[in-house]
Amino acid sequence: MDTKQIILNFLDILLRVPSLFILDEIFQSNLADLGLYPCTLLPLHKEADFDDVVGDSNHTLSRPLHSVANYDSGVFGNLSQSLINVIEFDATCAALFTLTLWTKHLVKVYEFLFSLLLVTASYHCNQQASISVATATTVSLRSLWRLDLEALFRAIPGLFFIVLNIATQSVLASGYLVVNFGPSIPALQAVLALCFLVPSLTVMIPLERNSFPHWCFLLLSLHIAFVVWSNFSMVYKEIKDRISYVVSFLRTEGFMALAEAEWVRLNVPLIFRTFWMIRVGIHLYIYVVSSEPGDWTETENLKTLFKVMLIRGCETLPAILGMSSIFSWFAGKFYVMCQLFLMIPHDEVSHVGPVSAVLFIILAFQNGLSTLQPAARIVRLGRNIVLLLACFLHFVHNAVDPVLMSLAASANPDVTRHARALAVSIGLTVVAFCGLYFLWLTHSISTWLLAVSGFSLEVICKVFASLALYGLFLADAKLSEFWDKLDDHVYRVRFAGRVVEFLVGLFLLCNSAFILIFENGGAIRAILVGFHAYFNLWCEARVGWKIFTRRRTAVHKIATLETVDQPELLDDVCAICFHDLKPTAPNNVMVKVTPCRHYFHAVCLRKWLYVQDRCPMCHQTLWSQLHSSSLDPSVGEVIAPRYEADQMQEHLHLD
Ligand SMILES: [Zn+2]
Ligand SMILES: [Zn+2]
Repeated sequence: MDTKQIILNFLDILLRVPSLFILDEIFQSNLADLGLYPCTLLPLHKEADFDDVVGDSNHTLSRPLHSVANYDSGVFGNLSQSLINVIEFDATCAALFTLTLWTKHLVKVYEFLFSLLLVTASYHCNQQASISVATATTVSLRSLWRLDLEALFRAIPGLFFIVLNIATQSVLASGYLVVNFGPSIPALQAVLALCFLVPSLTVMIPLERNSFPHWCFLLLSLHIAFVVWSNFSMVYKEIKDRISYVVSFLRTEGFMALAEAEWVRLNVPLIFRTFWMIRVGIHLYIYVVSSEPGDWTETENLKTLFKVMLIRGCETLPAILGMSSIFSWFAGKFYVMCQLFLMIPHDEVSHVGPVSAVLFIILAFQNGLSTLQPAARIVRLGRNIVLLLACFLHFVHNAVDPVLMSLAASANPDVTRHARALAVSIGLTVVAFCGLYFLWLTHSISTWLLAVSGFSLEVICKVFASLALYGLFLADAKLSEFWDKLDDHVYRVRFAGRVVEFLVGLFLLCNSAFILIFENGGAIRAILVGFHAYFNLWCEARVGWKIFTRRRTAVHKIATLETVDQPELLDDVCAICFHDLKPTAPNNVMVKVTPCRHYFHAVCLRKWLYVQDRCPMCHQTLWSQLHSSSLDPSVGEVIAPRYEADQMQEHLHLD
């Protein structure tokens, strides 16, 4: 991507950020009314509390950005609540619509807004100038003619205002002509420029009532209205095209694809990150300006600024989304660094960033982060981040686990890769242990601490399980002969890992249920507890039980097969593992023979039977055959599947 493209992309992002600020203002007033939050509906932004946290008691922090919904007084004082709701709803829709516009249309919207702004500014300046000139003495034509210097001197302030106004109006006019989105006819442009300049010239004429500013303002407004009206068919067509595009996309690709395409086109995370940084920048600036002058490079003051940033950074829904986007960016980058360290090719997009963002938002919602008072909010935010870090350890483990397995199974001779994977595993354990130790030292017991401990212990157990499997596979690769007990050991380690995971999950469920009932209710938490119970416990338990029963039936099936008494006499290989059937070492490997007279290692055949019930060589159904032969040893039923199997093999060969 070249520099020009980067700058254009950045401008595109910047143009979309103001919509988020509008949403932010609306949410700032309405978040608590949505009823989404649990019972901690405290009055928003109690400033004394804020000062407590920040530790600067003689500083009173005014609400920095005026909330549209501070309707107790002022402009909105006499508007009814329902009207305000309608306005807020419209503003939300408009902001969301603007946010998703194509760039060229977005530019049009800004041109329109900018020209409105210029015209209003021009009118305002003219009004100011006429007031100023009226208070100053004007120069009459007669005194000019007579070269009455005294009169001229007395008129200087008035002249000064006039010249200033002319200069301002020229700037406004040129701005208006530059962004003018109507047809650019020279005559029209000249008229428009005159509309800006005429009022400031006419103030020199001593009229009873100077109505030129009003007329020029009216003319310019008419021009804007005309341009908008002449563009209306285009706007209508664009909206229609857009809707048909969305509908056709939905029909052909589905909703998820559409959402993904729009997500990529708008670069949503970047918009939110930019928004958040600008927002926090504004708040910090206001804080610094409004507090007493001090040295802002001191550690204590920097800490205060950091706290202000955190508190202000999660006070509304858009702010929380922005913060989650920042957090996920860091998580994603750190994960990529881990991947690089582990020498994993990361050609596919990692899901760690988006998943961290979603987790961050869920945690923020279930604790009602933005409705908390500042002191409680910063504590809660810190706790959420610790929970997310514990989750991140799980992500890292998920990355390192397959690396360990593949390195051990393939007996990879690259020592660096082994060392790095082991270092990451040990690092995970150390971080989890130290984190737990520190947290238990500095915090008294709470449901949060228990949840973090559960998560961290789970990571530690998982790492130990991975390392045990790694050791087993490595030992197997080093052994020259066939190790028939390996499968059992692997199964035991995996089983133990699953049991620990299940127990931790059960513990977390009890913990969440306790929080739900006794500490902090809310629909979101209840739904999450349900999700956790279903996906992490019920589904996992079902999968585990399935594996267990499948293994048990496989063992049972193997036991019913005939064992070869003297495998030394067999001069063949097992068709599953391609090792010799006859034992090469003193440890006796069991060889089984199927009813279709095919020979396999018992261990290999058992693994095969987890997956399917047919003989690997001739595709005959082993189990029903065993079953039927044990019940009724008639030949017909045995022949039928064999015929079927032969046909299938023929098909396979033909293909
Ligand atoms: Zn075998
Ligand atoms: Zn067979």
